[in-house]
Amino acid sequence: MRYAIISDIHSNLEALRAVLDRITGMKVDVTCCLGDVVGYNANPNECIDILRDERIRCLMGNHDSRAAGLEEPDDFNPSAARAVLWTREQLTPENRQFLHDLPREIRVDGSVLMHGSLNDTDQYILTANDVRDQFRILRELSPPTRIGFFGHTHVRVAFSLLDGAIQIEQNDSIRFSDDRSCLVNPGSVGQPRDGDPRAAFAVYDPDAREISFHRVEYDIRACQDKVLRAGLPPRLAERLAIGR
Ligand code: ZN
Repeated sequence: MRYAIISDIHSNLEALRAVLDRITGMKVDVTCCLGDVVGYNANPNECIDILRDERIRCLMGNHDSRAAGLEEPDDFNPSAARAVLWTREQLTPENRQFLHDLPREIRVDGSVLMHGSLNDTDQYILTANDVRDQFRILRELSPPTRIGFFGHTHVRVAFSLLDGAIQIEQNDSIRFSDDRSCLVNPGSVGQPRDGDPRAAFAVYDPDAREISFHRVEYDIRACQDKVLRAGLPPRLAERLAIGR
């Protein structure tokens, strides 16, 4: 089985369609989403409808939990909070329920999927200590797990752990093994922040023991126009063009 791992769609319909089009040509069996389906951009219902129609396995992100009303966006910056509150008004009852019912963790073929970290949807995995902690928690899972996928930072990255040493992998394709664990962020579909504005995703192939990274161009201008027309903060449109 081959799995596409997507994350942080953030109501960006143009980016989601471009990514799913690319995946369609890639011999992928199952697509999984690490959460943050909504927030920031202007097509929350359309993006959720696609995930439901395509039966994409999906986690809950921190924007999803706020949009569903499980939590308030008190700790969000003003632009993000405004987009969450706007999203709440747009959601159909079915789609609000869809977000409300999303799980916080999924196990997929020897890997575990999370939004922020394994214990906390809102936690960012950023520092070496964060990474070391997560590798420890992966090992303590039952059964112990070597592969973790996370989102939330919107930055494509792969950490590997071999003989107690953590490395950041630089290649577009990485190999794992019985003694090499990996923590991987595929990057964001709908609001990349690693300086590359193209939509990002990864493919996980447990049989080949390989994870590969991919980027796809999409119609950024169309998404920006919708953000502005919806009256959302202009900064949310601008950042899409620079990938920050
Ligand atoms: Zn996000």
